[in-house]
Amino acid sequence: MLKLFIENHQFNTIKYHALQIVNACKSSISNDVIFAVKYSGLEKIKEQFRELSKYESELLERIIQIDSSESCEKFLNELEIFRKGIKKISEKELKKLFPKKRKINVPKYLLNSNDKISFFSWDDIGLKKRFLLYQLNGEYIGVEGTYSSTSHDSFCYFCRMKNKVNLVAFLSKAKSKNPDYYKIISQYICLDIEECNAQIKNLSHLENLLYKLLKNDL
Ligand SMILES: [Zn+2]
Repeated sequence: MLKLFIENHQFNTIKYHALQIVNACKSSISNDVIFAVKYSGLEKIKEQFRELSKYESELLERIIQIDSSESCEKFLNELEIFRKGIKKISEKELKKLFPKKRKINVPKYLLNSNDKISFFSWDDIGLKKRFLLYQLNGEYIGVEGTYSSTSHDSFCYFCRMKNKVNLVAFLSKAKSKNPDYYKIISQYICLDIEECNAQIKNLSHLENLLYKLLKNDL
């Protein structure tokens, strides 16, 4: 059976470095530079995987053969079948994550999706709320935040790319000794969630924010 071993952020990393190689090949720079871009890219890609079989490793090493947009496209297409989708979430699981919400308007596609994304997120325009679902250590957690109505071009906290972002004030789920105390963490996040998922190459910032939101205060 085919083993799906490439997660969304790993695929984004591979794509990023594959395109870097195409750019290096297109600019008339020396072969030494192209060689360096290829091997440092491959190294950065491999760092993203905890373990790789010989076969998986060889698949990724084909990045070295890229010398044009066409060969880049072929390389990425070949990897497409090894991409892992995100675990589906049931309506029951969702209710457990947001117990106080009488009704959460979850876009239907989310529940049926097996998308190649890193996190689920959607906006409730009426409430001006953004919801986020992420599998942290194998278990789904859900957080929500209020977003600002103004947006501007800046770096997104999750994907670290310059995009149209707005400020999202996430509310902590952690318990505090003081019931009137609410911890809020605000970050600039991409307006376009699909784009953010297509660009995120490292999950550490997203996970870091979630850990902070879940951590109990003394
Ligand atoms: Zn983003």
